Amino acid sequence: MISKIYNWLNDHEMEILAELEEMVNTETPSDRKDLLDLFSISLAQKFSDLGAETKFILESKAGNHLKVEYGQGEKQALILCHFDTVFAAGTVAQRPFTYDADKKIARGPGVLDMKAGIISALWAIKAFEALEISPEVKVVLLFNSDEEVGSRSSRPYIEEEAKKSDVVFVLEPGIGPEGTYKLWRKGTGGFRVNITGKASHAGANPEEGISAIDELSYLIQKIHALNNPLTGTTLNVGVVGGGTRGNVVAQDAWAQVDLRVMTAQEGERVVREVLAIEPTGQAQIEITGGLSRPPMEITEAATALYEKATALAKELGYSYDQGGTGGGSDGNFTAALGITTLDGMGGVGHGAHSEEEYILTEHLTVRTAIIAEMIRQIGQK
Ligand SMILES: [Zn+2]
Repeated sequence: MISKIYNWLNDHEMEILAELEEMVNTETPSDRKDLLDLFSISLAQKFSDLGAETKFILESKAGNHLKVEYGQGEKQALILCHFDTVFAAGTVAQRPFTYDADKKIARGPGVLDMKAGIISALWAIKAFEALEISPEVKVVLLFNSDEEVGSRSSRPYIEEEAKKSDVVFVLEPGIGPEGTYKLWRKGTGGFRVNITGKASHAGANPEEGISAIDELSYLIQKIHALNNPLTGTTLNVGVVGGGTRGNVVAQDAWAQVDLRVMTAQEGERVVREVLAIEPTGQAQIEITGGLSRPPMEITEAATALYEKATALAKELGYSYDQGGTGGGSDGNFTAALGITTLDGMGGVGHGAHSEEEYILTEHLTVRTAIIAEMIRQIGQK
């Protein structure tokens, strides 16, 4: 059956690329509710044209999320896509979607992360309709507007749907131009550090001051000392600030810290250690934060799903490896609930979140066919 789906998709490759172009050129920065809402309205229309049920999850600050339901069955498959990108409005004016037909490369902001994934979700359903395939499974597709800023408003809906699902497919990009599927992801989180000292004249009466910046320098060392390549734990003081003028002992200083861990247990341990850090000098330290996305730990069930995906790829003359990443996704939430999750099923390319971002377009129909066939097979058991 996968060859039939794949051939049909290849027959429609130019339409697929045209629709991808339209989606990439419709900008969706995470902080622009107006643009996000326009995008989800047009996406909902595309799905309702296919006979799917669509429902907006209304948000006051974030963009509205879109829930799509397609098909019927005892089992439920949840497909996760986010439609926000990290690129500010106006990026498309500078570098719109381009397609190099010789090299089969498409570029543009968000093309890989993850408008290619949205295209795969849409065209998997289009293939079902066109080929009159009725998968005996309820397919729920959640398109959220805030993944790039931590999925704060969409997380409860993702978790609620995941709990009702037998399996979760995350159409985030695979890893690199090899399109490696993601079986594990580190848990991600962060801390905000505020340090309060006492200002004084740095020349006239330095002894009256307490330097928040001096304290920050110790704190950075204490945090970075918690890095451990053996456990995969990383902490990065990525942004710092403080002080007012060169001749003033700094009263205030602050830092933003990124945290990544492989297991939930390690996450708890490191968070406890960071929150317990004491000042070296007399300044006061206030640390807040913790894990925001739990780790997606590798499981036998997810490995079995990967094996299915790569076996299907082989039928089409492709092969994809399995791996993992330090980056988080909404798959972290669903995997942490114990729901079998296969991540990185979307576009194949490189350079997400950068100007280099591209996809290798020949994989678009391959990956879409794999997603469609895996959905179909869930209903067969
Ligand atoms: Zn993404």
